[in-house]
Amino acid sequence: MVDFSVLQSHSRGQVITPDSGDYDDARQVWNGSIQRRPAAILRCAGTADIITGVRFASDHGLTLAVRAGGHNIAGLGTCDDGLVLDLRDLRGVQIDPTSKHARVHPGVTWGLFDDEAQAFGLATTGGIMSTTGVAGFTLGGGMGWLIRRHGAASDNLRSVRLVTADGEFIAVDGESEPELLWALRGGGGNFGVAASLEFDLHDVGPEVIAGPVIYPLDQARDVLAEWSAVAPSLPDDAMSIAVLRTAPPDPPFPEHLWGQPVLSVNMMWLGAADEAASVLAPLRSLGRPAVDAVGPKPYVAVQSSQDRYWEPGAQNYWKADYLTGLDDAAIASLVDAAAHFTSPLSDIKLAALGGVLTGIPEDFSAYGNRDAEILLNINTRWGDADADDRHIGWARELWTALHRLASGVYVNFLGEEGAGRVLQAYGEEKYKRLVELKRRWDPDNFFHVNQNIPPA
Ligand SMILES: Cc1cc2nc3c(=O)[nH]c(=O)nc-3n(C[C@H](O)[C@H](O)[C@H](O)COP(=O)(O)OP(=O)(O)OC[C@H]3O[C@@H](n4cnc5c(N)ncnc54)[C@H](O)[C@@H]3O)c2cc1C
Repeated sequence: MVDFSVLQSHSRGQVITPDSGDYDDARQVWNGSIQRRPAAILRCAGTADIITGVRFASDHGLTLAVRAGGHNIAGLGTCDDGLVLDLRDLRGVQIDPTSKHARVHPGVTWGLFDDEAQAFGLATTGGIMSTTGVAGFTLGGGMGWLIRRHGAASDNLRSVRLVTADGEFIAVDGESEPELLWALRGGGGNFGVAASLEFDLHDVGPEVIAGPVIYPLDQARDVLAEWSAVAPSLPDDAMSIAVLRTAPPDPPFPEHLWGQPVLSVNMMWLGAADEAASVLAPLRSLGRPAVDAVGPKPYVAVQSSQDRYWEPGAQNYWKADYLTGLDDAAIASLVDAAAHFTSPLSDIKLAALGGVLTGIPEDFSAYGNRDAEILLNINTRWGDADADDRHIGWARELWTALHRLASGVYVNFLGEEGAGRVLQAYGEEKYKRLVELKRRWDPDNFFHVNQNIPPA
């Protein structure tokens, strides 16, 4: 039996155990399908607590889970019986507008990052929802609206202050530890706990041209066929994500479509406002839209515009792949799946990649699959825990139909899918290099509550 009062006496933050009144709240992660019961949760109050927590777990042979934003779909920010190093209270953001760099603590979410950076008209590639944690997101790669213009979040990661498996605090940058930085740009939480992360920033907004063009489902087949030809070859300053979803009872969805499956072709333009109309015209005229709500909007408003549909606590199951493209049969499967959504909360997202991503050399970082055309994410989401099989079955059926077009998978969208899928996320060459680095930095696989790269 581990005596956590010893950990408490060495920590500034609170140690929460099953007999604490706030245990049930503290152990929840974003995905309500994940219900783990850690032996203790350390709400870190500073870097010293991170070091203390790592050493305590190691000394006591405890499993350690590291939680930042808590959004991982597989629930990798928590564990049963072990110690959760909960970083959510570490929310410092420092923006240097002169060098255009940001240094953030690991509990920062993208909403907080964007608010601070946008005060100076700056941003880096962040999530399409503002509640996601910067740390887990970036260490796994990081796809968002700026990816075609500025690369993935991990491409903008300049340096990391890292607590290693033996509890040492090290600075990782391109000069001191280039190989380790290579691994942290996409290799997830396998190599240590990031106590802070430093990013490159870019001039963005504060207004961008963005919004959805919404079509009823009976046009989705033709529109998706056109979209898949147009979206991946747009100029780098433009990005589009097509979403098959049930129209919520909210503007800009027109009232006659509320509760109906629709195709929403979302877009963002980062270039000069007076060029938006001509560049986005091909994306806005794919069919006969029910609504075209594309126009100037604050970047921070776009970044948080979907949050209300993705609050924590619901049941969630995802299946994802990078796709080489879409063909007629794939489009037919997508539209058919949308016609048979098992839950109005589910959606199917197709993000068109390309842009500068393809120009960054594949060996720049562990994050891979840079030449994929489309990132598919089938997001099943429902309220009633008893109905799991129906929703999961729906997602798996669609994923199976599309999987023949897969060129790999994005590690941050993986559920608990086994070692073979982790290998697919990196490809054999990168995976081998990651295993070598894991042997050097974490030979005992102390950090294994993640999409694991075992050292053996
Ligand atoms: C609503 C929602 C929207 C999303 N949108 C996007 C999107 O637009 N683009 C995209 O690319 N992904 C997106 N994701 C996926 C997201 O990138 C992953 O879920 C990511 O793991 C979340 O990071 P987190 O810090 O919130 O999660 P956590 O669950 O806290 O952590 C995830 C993993 O990272 C590790 N980790 C976290 N912090 C650290 C740290 N400081 N040091 C070392 N390891 C750490 C954890 O141990 C765990 O293995 C979204 C997820 C959700 C639920």
